[in-house]
Amino acid sequence: MSITELWRPYGKVYILRLGHRPERDKRVTTHVLLVARAFGANGFILADICDRSIENTLRNVTERWGGKLFFKCGVSGKDYARTWKRMGGEIIHLTMYGINVDDIIGVIRSSPLPKLIVVGSEKVERFFYDIADYNVAIGNQPHSEVSALAIFLDRLYRGQELYYEFLDAKLRIVPQERGKKVERIE
Ligand code: SAM
Repeated sequence: MSITELWRPYGKVYILRLGHRPERDKRVTTHVLLVARAFGANGFILADICDRSIENTLRNVTERWGGKLFFKCGVSGKDYARTWKRMGGEIIHLTMYGINVDDIIGVIRSSPLPKLIVVGSEKVERFFYDIADYNVAIGNQPHSEVSALAIFLDRLYRGQELYYEFLDAKLRIVPQERGKKVERIE
């Protein structure tokens, strides 16, 4: 089974990445970005800073594997969140202090509003807890923004994102029990 762009049930699902420190977080932020793209988000905002290495990774991946992920960096995270709400979107902040995802995902799924999903790195300012429509915990233990985002998107899309195929991909993996098989798409 595979599904394509037509499957996306919400107009916009964007990720707002807070607190990126280029000297420490390159790898983690890159992984947040890769999860965003692979698991069905269609935008990624790197708040308050730009880091060209993150943008280059996105370019390299989408060049071969397809997918159009809107990317913006250096915009104020707070302003972006305020504007998102003003334009009629809703905000979901992933935090271990929030409501367990199982207790709220039905409400979030049934809302057709554009969704801005906020993930932090270290301490997240109170502002984001207050502006969020939902503070959602992927369990109430500390772990990682990468795992939190992956599990949240998987719950949002009920696992369908694992069958998502990008129409503009140049490469496609043919699943194998052993070894690797990759097809070039003409
Ligand atoms: N003390 C932080 C907090 O407020 O959740 C943990 C920082 S953690 C290294 C970085 C980011 O991972 C958090 O800002 C949050 O977005 C995400 N995160 C970590 N554990 C989580 C959990 N159990 N549920 C939801 N998100 C989580």
